[in-house]
Amino acid sequence: RAKENGNAVYEIFDSRMHEQAREVLRMETDLRKALERGEFELYFQPIISLRGNRITGMEALIRWRHPERGLVSPGEFIPQAEEAGLIFDIDRWVLANACSILDLWSERYTAAHDLLLNINLSAKYFLKRDAVDDFSEILRVTGVRPSRLRLEITENLILDGDEHVTGKLLKLRAMGVSLALDDFGTGYSSLSYLVRYPFDAIKIDRSFILSMLEKSGDLAIVQSVLALGKNLGLEVVAEGVETLEQAAKLREWGCDFAQGYFYFRPMPASDVMDLLAKPAGLVLTY
Ligand code: C2E
Ligand code: MG
Ligand code: MG
Ligand code: MG
Repeated sequence: RAKENGNAVYEIFDSRMHEQAREVLRMETDLRKALERGEFELYFQPIISLRGNRITGMEALIRWRHPERGLVSPGEFIPQAEEAGLIFDIDRWVLANACSILDLWSERYTAAHDLLLNINLSAKYFLKRDAVDDFSEILRVTGVRPSRLRLEITENLILDGDEHVTGKLLKLRAMGVSLALDDFGTGYSSLSYLVRYPFDAIKIDRSFILSMLEKSGDLAIVQSVLALGKNLGLEVVAEGVETLEQAAKLREWGCDFAQGYFYFRPMPASDVMDLLAKPAGLVLTY
């Protein structure tokens, strides 16, 4: 009997695997088509200097305007794109578009001149042999100076001890691009990454900010990261700030930068232009 049941389980398992494989293939085709048809869009979320009380940067966040599913968030397709080997093309698209939008903003509005543009790149992007040349070429074509860009890389995607990745990050840094370690605290070997890779900033993952005023453990983590940033000479950005209380505490503790729904939700490029068009549009009044 047990054996019969066992076989049945195998059959179900098997058909589920087929289904999953089909799903992956479908997703791959869909993503490829999405690139060809121009279904991706960039949204932007402001980054606020807590000392200056103003917007000093924007993080570009990809969206997929799916013909049937509507606006799809990156959590629902970036992992699949990484798996399917399409992330290189998608990240290139993001890079090129973010740079040309920054160029447009800067041409139209002086307020955009000192904005830093943060771009999320998958660590897989750096596995491509010509990643650095490719990157330089995009900057050359769009005419964006490297110092205007900050690349955000997620710690659990950095391939452990991959010298090629380290070498490429060092080259980009030498070009003048700055680097941020994203989602800090959620992956492994965080501390050694900070020493091994040439980061300029740490972004504290929003899960810690979310509960730092309720859970003493998360509070301890946030305060330790702030101290760590100070000691290593790195900027610290708090992600996912949703309340006035969180914002006030972070400022009190000397956190440099913050980002979150309390300030702004990610918005389309046209809304950023509205901000840039107003005199003092980047200054916060609260
Ligand atoms: P991330 O880089 O850590 O981006 C922050 C995410 O938190 C964004 O989600 C943002 O919309 C969300 N967020 C910001 N403030 C708040 C808040 O106060 N509360 C809450 N609950 N959420 C907040 P999003 O846009 O869905 O992006 C998810 C992740 O997808 C990003 O995490 C990033 O890892 C990845 N991603 C986004 N755009 C790109 C891209 O162009 N290329 C690559 N490779 N990855 C991307
Ligand atoms: Mg990010
Ligand atoms: Mg993050
Ligand atoms: Mg994230």
